[in-house]
Amino acid sequence: MGLDSVVIGGGGISGLLAAAAASPFARQVVIVEKDEIPVEPAPRRGVPQGRQVHALLGAGQDAMAELLPGIVDDFEAAGARMVDSPADLAVYGRFGWAGRVRSGTRTVMMRRPVLEHVVRDRVLALPNVTLRSSAVTGISVTDDRSRVAGFALLDGTTLEGDLVVDATGRVSRSVEWLGDIGYDAPQEREMRSHIGYATVEVRLPDGVFDDGVAGVLAHPHPGNCRGAAVVPADNGIYLIAGLGMMNQDPPRDIDGFMAHLDGAPSPIVGEIARKAEFLTDIATYRVRGSRRRVWEDLTHRPDGYLLIGDAVMAFNPLYGQGMSVAACEAVALSRSLSEDSSAAGLASRAQTAMKEVIDIVFAMAVSTDGAYEGAELIGVPRPSADDMEAGALLSRVATDDPEVALAVKRYAHYFDRGALQSPSIADKLAAWKVGNRKVLHDNPVVVPGIIG
Ligand SMILES: Cc1cc2nc3c(=O)[nH]c(=O)nc-3n(C[C@H](O)[C@H](O)[C@H](O)COP(=O)(O)OP(=O)(O)OC[C@H]3O[C@@H](n4cnc5c(N)ncnc54)[C@H](O)[C@@H]3O)c2cc1C
Repeated sequence: MGLDSVVIGGGGISGLLAAAAASPFARQVVIVEKDEIPVEPAPRRGVPQGRQVHALLGAGQDAMAELLPGIVDDFEAAGARMVDSPADLAVYGRFGWAGRVRSGTRTVMMRRPVLEHVVRDRVLALPNVTLRSSAVTGISVTDDRSRVAGFALLDGTTLEGDLVVDATGRVSRSVEWLGDIGYDAPQEREMRSHIGYATVEVRLPDGVFDDGVAGVLAHPHPGNCRGAAVVPADNGIYLIAGLGMMNQDPPRDIDGFMAHLDGAPSPIVGEIARKAEFLTDIATYRVRGSRRRVWEDLTHRPDGYLLIGDAVMAFNPLYGQGMSVAACEAVALSRSLSEDSSAAGLASRAQTAMKEVIDIVFAMAVSTDGAYEGAELIGVPRPSADDMEAGALLSRVATDDPEVALAVKRYAHYFDRGALQSPSIADKLAAWKVGNRKVLHDNPVVVPGIIG
């Protein structure tokens, strides 16, 4: 066991998973969380996005299962619905219906507070992990300021550790805390695409979906910034969401909400919403876009201080990546620890190990959101017309070709860039272009069947 003590600020998804990653390598792990944790799964103040629709991607589920073996069974026991998402969730986008393909994988669908509750139960059952109820107010450093020694807490005490982890999410104040002791801020890259969400929990009567369809997403796109989704969650509950890009926020009043759903690229979600029993108020939320802080590139950084989750990169939520990336980052921490669990240099090694997944996901956000007129790109170049055309071609071919559709899903759900790079996919893209083919499945009111 290499580390004596690991201290984690923030007990959301990334803090919990960082604790799971560190637990086998440390004598004790302490998570500091400012919220009082509800006994039953429930939304809470520190995770204000918790009432919004959340999907866990395959990459995130696999990463969680690596850190917490058997967690998928626990999700199921908590009522999660299992789906083969490329087949069961019908997605209507800019170029028609994404080809529905069987992938042979099963991922959980559940409300965010329920998912977090299951993860928390598992992590706090680890014998050396404890939760301390307090707020982190700053950091403490060694006399020579070369190492972060711990967190300063609201109650006036300091909690020290060999590894100190900021998992406080979008509200992270690390830039300010490290600036106060003379460290430069990391470079920031940002994509402002001004996203609005509105979500309501519902029950649906039987038979609202076509056979084999478990949910429908009508994605906003540069030609229509209003989107809508109806997806299964846990315990028979469904979530209906209005989604908006470029300040087209869905409202929380019922008439405005329904009008937003009706204005989405496919009217199916609005039609289903009219048959639904609404169980909660409509909760709204807005985010500015995707923001990445390039902590791993800081040449001069204090030892012992690691950042994870939204504190490093916060996403446009439309692509459902945040929790999954946090889980992949926690796996990167776990692997860094298993290679060398000594404290010296660990934070820097682990931060660098997280870069690969963040690079992939940030590139996805830039290429997709960069296509919106008026999206602001800060510290990152706008995708070229050729890149955008290549993305559009891929989406078109994926409406009709099972191999391409599956590869696109693997890229989006497993961050697997290699899936898109096979010679046969290149041939298919070229053939589509040469043949000047048109998308067949572009009728927004007719969900096509499985294509492969
Ligand atoms: C509208 C919306 C929809 C989303 N949809 C999806 C989705 O479909 N799929 C997906 O994977 N992700 C989604 N996300 C992103 C996802 O919610 C985040 O990426 C994820 O929650 C990040 O986890 P985190 O632990 O880093 O941060 P958070 O979840 O924000 O948790 C931070 C924790 O730190 C605590 N904290 C904060 N400050 C302090 C402090 N000073 N002291 C002590 N504790 C503190 C908070 O109380 C909280 O518990 C969505 C986000 C939004 C906004």
